This record gives sequence, C-alpha cells and structure tokens, in this order.
Amino acid sequence: MDIHRIQPGTRVHLSTFDTRDTGGFGGDKATGKKELKRLTSRLEDLQELLYAEGKHRLLIILQAMDTGGKDGVIRHVFDGVNPQGVKVASFKVPTTEELAHDYLWRVHKQVPGSGEIVIFNRSHYEDVLVVRVHGLVPADAWQRRYDQINAFERLLADEGTTILKFFLHISKDEQRTRLESRRDEPHKQWKFNVGDLKERKLWPDYLAAYEDALSRTSTEWAPWYVVPADRKWYRNLVIGSVLVQVLEGLDMHYPPAPEHLEEIVIE
Ligand code: ADP
Repeated sequence: MDIHRIQPGTRVHLSTFDTRDTGGFGGDKATGKKELKRLTSRLEDLQELLYAEGKHRLLIILQAMDTGGKDGVIRHVFDGVNPQGVKVASFKVPTTEELAHDYLWRVHKQVPGSGEIVIFNRSHYEDVLVVRVHGLVPADAWQRRYDQINAFERLLADEGTTILKFFLHISKDEQRTRLESRRDEPHKQWKFNVGDLKERKLWPDYLAAYEDALSRTSTEWAPWYVVPADRKWYRNLVIGSVLVQVLEGLDMHYPPAPEHLEEIVIE
C-alpha cells in the first residue's frame, strides 16, 4: 500500500492518479471485501492493545471532495473497534468563537490523548482548501499555513502522536453518479446538499488547492496517502491495510499483570 503514499518533496499532479486504480491488490471486489473483514478484525485487536497500553496516540485525517466517502470509511474500516478508545472529530464551518481564534485552536483541542485514536472528518486542511478557494482570508495568510501546519504536525509527532493523512480521490464523473443517487434514492436524500453543486463548479480550483496541500505537507512525520476512491471496496482496503501495518509497527505490549496475581483467590 506504500505505492499510494506521497514521498516528501514530490510535486503532486492529481490528473496522473487513476481514481479507479486497484494497483496494490490483485483480487476482485469479493476478495477485497473478504480481505477487509480480516483487516477490520485485526484492527479491533490492535486498537484494544493501543488502548490497554495507553502509550501511543493515533491521529487519522480524512479529506475528500464532497461525496468522496469519508463517512463510508469511518463506518466500514472502523466497524468493530471499541468506541471507548476511538473518537471522530468533524470540522464544519467555524463558529464565531472558533473564528475569534487562530485556525489551529479548534483542531488542537481534538487531537488524541494517550491510548486514543481520533479520526478527523475534515481538518485543518480546510484552512488551505475551502478557505483558499473562496478567498476567506488574504492569500498571504493561507500561503503561510503550509509551513505552520507542518510545524504543528511535527509538534504532535515529537510528542508521540502517529499521524496518517488520507485524501480520498474520486473523479468528477463519480461525484456526479453519487450526487444523482443522493438526489434519487429516498434513504440517501437526507445527504443531498444543494451547496455541493456550487462547490462542484469549482472542481479545478479545489484540485489545484489539493495538489498544493498534498505536495507541501506530505512529510516523514505526517505522510499523505492519495487513495483511489471511485471503488469503495478498494478505498476501504487501502486505508485498512495502512492502519494495520502502521499499528503493527508500533511494537505495542499489554501492560504487565499485577504482581502475585496467581496467589489471589476469588471467593
Ligand atoms: P461533510 O460534507 O463533511 O459531511 P457538512 O456537509 O456539514 O459535512 O460540510 C461541512 C462544511 O464545512 C464543508 O463545506 C466544509 O468545506 C466547511 N468547512 C470546514 N472547515 C472550514 C473552514 N475552516 N472554513 C470554512 N468552511 C469550512
């Protein structure tokens, strides 16, 4: 799955990434789904270990165009994990209070503590994406943010947080199909947001903003993965595989049992 990771310093051109790619995986959808089951069950065990050990912190950042599948990833990849140690933080249009602070203020408050996994559904990257596309702050302000974000993520990493960032990459055609099904299927209509159509018109501006963000903020300590996301099963498989691989690499252990446990009699 390393093929989807952006090496630091690489200039990203999203048009060269195939959104329907299944590159790292030889199998079909059915095999992919079976493999995801195995991964989610492994993830369950690893998350329990992370929680029990209480040492590491894991931050997962999800970014995508509208309908890109952030909610689907949260539902399918984290299927069996214990909600006690996993939290989702969603970042919406900032409130008045949030706007009265620097843009990382609301973000820093949500980062994981020891033993926790936090999933960011959108993130501080909105502050170089939607904010840039709509000119919500002057250009020199958002331009400074790439370095600020790298420094912020470096701080978190230095203090023991593992950071993984996933851009769910869908094509514009795939977005049309997904918007149509939100328009037409009764159980999906609640998700239809007319505002998404306005953003869709700005597709090239968002692509340019994403390309800059991915190029400038994929670092050794907080790498970006560009996940081909037109096929949902493959998208889930990539993210599940990366998470399992990274968590297995943390060398975690259950804390030792209390001393003289074998002498305790329970009446
Ligand atoms: P989602 O699309 O993630 O399911 P919503 O439909 O509530 O959730 O959309 C959240 C909206 O908040 C998005 O349009 C997003 O661009 C916007 N948003 C998030 N962060 C910011 C920000 N810092 N400044 C302006 N808008 C933001």
